Amino acid sequence: MKTRPLQNLYLTQSSDICRKISRRDFVSPRDESIEKKGFFNALKIIFLDRDGVINRDPNGYVMSWKGFHFLPKVKKSIRILNKNGFSLIVISNQGGIAKGLFTKEALNDITKKMLLAVSKSGGKISSAWYCPHKLEDNCSCKKPKTGLFKMATKGIKFNKKDSFFIGDSEVDIKAGKRFGIGTIMVFSGKTKRKDLKKIKVKPDYMADSLLDATKIILKRALKKS
Ligand SMILES: [Mg+2]
Repeated sequence: MKTRPLQNLYLTQSSDICRKISRRDFVSPRDESIEKKGFFNALKIIFLDRDGVINRDPNGYVMSWKGFHFLPKVKKSIRILNKNGFSLIVISNQGGIAKGLFTKEALNDITKKMLLAVSKSGGKISSAWYCPHKLEDNCSCKKPKTGLFKMATKGIKFNKKDSFFIGDSEVDIKAGKRFGIGTIMVFSGKTKRKDLKKIKVKPDYMADSLLDATKIILKRALKKS
């Protein structure tokens, strides 16, 4: 996979901590093929939150690969989405870095191994983007803000109407709506179906798992075609 130099992926902030962690190596290599394709044919992108969607919600932070456990049928779902023309991008808050609970190297190691496991199973995640800040840093990338989405899609032509954000918390739903794409809440992580009443910003769709969400996306695509 060819990569191009990445610069200033984390917006510089006034506070020291943000400056310190505004490093380009928080992100996995960008997939050039999706950028090229974008000039000829608008892409459909499925943005995925990580914890509670791809891997078991750690109830805190995944601090090393040992703590990362794929949820059932996630790799299969990714493969199915790819086969149906969707590019996948991970968008995840990992404030444990700013809190000093784990390092960016640990996060990079987890990402590398996650992407490798996905590709070994025949699927592909094009890139993974993380906000390493904590709330008080007042950055532009922490969901529900949309900075990560903007950075991830800079220069990429894609169709917002056919794109979704799949997440397991209200923050994800807010972020997806602000960015102007469809939202799917999965109940495989933080939020359970019974918690729905407490949620003010309602998702467009709800699903028990990423596989269920995949079925919803494909059904909708089929109807549109
Ligand atoms: Mg989550």
